[in-house]
Amino acid sequence: MSVRRLDRETVDRIAAGEVVTRPARVVVELVENALDAGAGRVEIEVTGSGTERIRVADDGRGMSDDEAALAVERHTTSKLPDGDLERVDTLGFRGEALASIADVSRLTLTTNDGGARGVRVGVDDEASVESAGRGCGTTVEVHDLFHNRPARKESLAAPATEFERISDRVAAYALLRPGVAFTLDHDGRRVFTTPGSGSFQDAALAVYGREVARESTTLTAETSVEIGDEEAAVDLRGLLAYPSVTRSANDHVRIAVNGRPVSVPTLRQAVERGYGSLLPGDRHPIVALAVSLPPRAVDPNVHPTKETVALRAGDAVADAVEAAVSDALSTADLRRSADVAMDLEAALDPVDSGPSVLGDAEFVGRFHDLYLLCAADDDLLVIDQHAAHERINYERLRMAVESEGVPSADLDPPATLSLSPGEVAAVESHDDALARLGFDCAPFGGGTVRIRAVPAPFGRVADPESLEAALAALREGESADWRDDLLADLACHPSLKAGDTLSDDDAAALIERLGACEQPFSCPHGRPTVLAIDEAHLAQGFDRHPRRG
Ligand code: ADP
Ligand code: MG
Repeated sequence: MSVRRLDRETVDRIAAGEVVTRPARVVVELVENALDAGAGRVEIEVTGSGTERIRVADDGRGMSDDEAALAVERHTTSKLPDGDLERVDTLGFRGEALASIADVSRLTLTTNDGGARGVRVGVDDEASVESAGRGCGTTVEVHDLFHNRPARKESLAAPATEFERISDRVAAYALLRPGVAFTLDHDGRRVFTTPGSGSFQDAALAVYGREVARESTTLTAETSVEIGDEEAAVDLRGLLAYPSVTRSANDHVRIAVNGRPVSVPTLRQAVERGYGSLLPGDRHPIVALAVSLPPRAVDPNVHPTKETVALRAGDAVADAVEAAVSDALSTADLRRSADVAMDLEAALDPVDSGPSVLGDAEFVGRFHDLYLLCAADDDLLVIDQHAAHERINYERLRMAVESEGVPSADLDPPATLSLSPGEVAAVESHDDALARLGFDCAPFGGGTVRIRAVPAPFGRVADPESLEAALAALREGESADWRDDLLADLACHPSLKAGDTLSDDDAAALIERLGACEQPFSCPHGRPTVLAIDEAHLAQGFDRHPRRG
């Protein structure tokens, strides 16, 4: 076989596969076109997984008849004035999305740029153009996605999962572009609608519900970084949820660079560094952060589907993000936020093993209602009562799941919980697993889920909120660990909190039960439960000779 050049049409068809990988990509491309057209309102309707039908309607500037006919052809764009990629300030620039989508579906585009009548362009086997009534703006309808790509269609996940991706993407735009009103409907049901007021908190209220909107603060910062020998303005705006409403997965840290939600790990890490010790080690915040930079500081053209960007002076931008997040949180009123992590940075070492250590531990007192103090041989043990209780609950729960299953308790009246669209979709796709874990719940419309029963291991009724942790664990993957992660979170909820006072008897019982655990020395999240200070260490501090024997 010899090397030969592919014909143009084949090249284009291969390229189409790169752009349109799944229904969520179609939604993203259409939403970005609407935003580029200056829309103030974007309405998205999805049927099933999105392969049946996706419709995106906007009130943007629309297109003339000629433009509309051209737009569905390949490599046609209005967005690259002089072919200068350095200066693009639009989300689109490659001019291939509409053509690529039309290649793998039946597409209709109806548009009007403000004239008396609009135009409808249909692209099936052949293109058709006819006049159509429509107000100013554009509607794109995509039917039968991948009808001519059976392998791609079969490789898609279950409809609920595909829709979860769509709703997660739309939520990102809605949260990060609060000046635009977004509406998402699935199978005729409203998933969420944002008001387009420009307020990050209003958008968060619509997407996440009241708790997140209330337990959050906004961030506004203008600063600059050096790029080459020029100063570049960095504008940061967004919403930071308090540490009281953390998540176990990091996919709620959403960042946009120049208006496009992107995945830039260095920026996400900078956000989390900005939270510092306010975040427990295994928890992640809910954040929407819009970063604006001069176009020359950003290369949007480094990824086939533009999911990430390359930043010039990325480290300096990350530092600016970290500082702004940290500032915003330090001035915010965090008093309401419970569960703030404790930072332990003493000369204390985690105990590493030896079940006998707790066997002869004698409870001698407590400190700040956080720690139980015990004498054990030559060691002074400091036990984190919350972490210890979590470990005990976790092991009991694991035993329950392996034997009779997690018992559940009916909630009367049922509780409702506001969840993100992705979480709502996960309630449907993981209903079996949730039932096995003791939840009885179903989506209730408007981003809420109705919970009729919750896990109640050993008569302890879990908070309805523990459903969030369960969903996060389930969504994190099909890995074998998900159940352990989930049990760890469930164990956390009924556990003692920092500040709960324990009677001496309860303290002694807790220590004894901890000692009986399979792995007493770390909580299910991997943090230590027990720290030891040996007497030699104290003696050294007091300038004494250690006691021997
Ligand atoms: P790109 O966005 O990269 O330019 P597309 O294939 O997505 O490429 O769109 C081609 C062109 O069609 C755009 O440059 C724009 O002029 C026009 N267009 C597409 N969608 C819309 C819309 N919703 N409103 C107005 N114009 C649109
Ligand atoms: Mg586009």
